[in-house]
Amino acid sequence: MSSLQVTRGTRDILAPEIYCWQQLEATARQILSQAAYTEIRTPIFEATELFARGIGEATDIVGKEMYTFSDRGDRSLTLRPEGTAGVARSFIENKLFAQGGVQRLWYMGAMFRYERPQAGRQRQFHQLGVEVLGSADPRADAEAIAIASDFLRSVGLKDLVVDLNSVGSAEDRVEYRQALVDYFTPYVAELDQDSRDRLTRNPLRILDSKDKRTQEICQDAPSILNYLSAESQQHFEQVQTLLIDLKIAYRLNPRLVRGLDYYTRTAFEIQSNLLGAQSAVCGGGRYDRLISELGGADVPAVGWAIGLERLVILMQQVAEQKLSEIDFYVISRGEQAESKSLSIAQLFRQAGFCVELDLSGAKFDKQFKRASNANAKAAIVIGDSEVQMQQIQIKWLQSGEQEAIAIDDLSSAFEALKQKLSS
Ligand code: ATP
Ligand code: MG
Repeated sequence: MSSLQVTRGTRDILAPEIYCWQQLEATARQILSQAAYTEIRTPIFEATELFARGIGEATDIVGKEMYTFSDRGDRSLTLRPEGTAGVARSFIENKLFAQGGVQRLWYMGAMFRYERPQAGRQRQFHQLGVEVLGSADPRADAEAIAIASDFLRSVGLKDLVVDLNSVGSAEDRVEYRQALVDYFTPYVAELDQDSRDRLTRNPLRILDSKDKRTQEICQDAPSILNYLSAESQQHFEQVQTLLIDLKIAYRLNPRLVRGLDYYTRTAFEIQSNLLGAQSAVCGGGRYDRLISELGGADVPAVGWAIGLERLVILMQQVAEQKLSEIDFYVISRGEQAESKSLSIAQLFRQAGFCVELDLSGAKFDKQFKRASNANAKAAIVIGDSEVQMQQIQIKWLQSGEQEAIAIDDLSSAFEALKQKLSS
């Protein structure tokens, strides 16, 4: 019989790594609710057409990375490769714009892309993302960047750099596009295949190529910053002034593009030099024309997504590893003691403690060993003599100190135990 294994490009997340995930999830919830963002959960699969239109036919994602299938009713469905399209669809469908004002939404969950798996690149991966819908104000862009940076700092990351650019408006890009075509055409034989295809369809995306020779050629390509209208220029300067006020380090990167027509103005990535080839941990920008492109009103928007696998790789490098947090490990031996042990464990849990119950029936010294492997602060020991005397022993594993508590007195002892645990 062949052994069953996890599918290529997917993985299990086990302890101790899972503690990193739980920590980042809790931190995200806290930081985002402090900034008045509301969580949104959209389906994992949607109509293929949503992604084709919402991400763009000319992108790698739609062109070659989607998990698309027909269901039993012959509908073409796709596992979501990113979060923005689903949020935009939901925003339009649920008429969130009619509520007026600005909608600040966040999501967290699994995304699916058929890519070549490598460190920090999987076929099922996870993103945390935000979308701020209903404002063209440069403060919305700077606030979104500030929240991402706060979050990354709060989970222990330092030395991150924001790469910043403006891709202008669709009108700004008409002339720029031509300048790029003029620039790249003499090099056409040296460009990688994808970039050659893009030369006519979407020359901006050549700047995004990961091919080495193409990247060299891109070094001297014309800069979008010379093609911005006065309005786009002013918006970009305001975003930068705000980032300076916020003391967020950024560097201008005129080659950072989001190549689709509905991406506008601000584009950014947050990079870490600890990630090797997959250096971007966060990507985002403004997409003022997406909602109308998908059939909604003319609603400007800005957002970002953080790749959580890459974030966890970074957290494991820089932050101290959190272990499980067991307060008490319940050890019992003997028939009567064992039958008492579960109700004692429950009493402690109901009082708010974190308690693990040993079910092995092994010798006391073996159970003590498990208690220290579980990283418990103390063992609750119940043997036959404790049952007879209607008490439990608490042994603090660090100091070896031991105390007896009558079972009848437990509820009045809890407060002192809490203080002892937190000291
Ligand atoms: P890349 O250039 O690395 O392929 P991307 O431009 O496709 O990234 P986005 O679509 O902007 O990435 O997604 C935002 C973030 O999601 C990325 O910065 C990255 O951290 C993460 N991400 C994207 N694809 C994957 C993947 N296949 N596996 C793990 N994380 C990913
Ligand atoms: Mg990609």
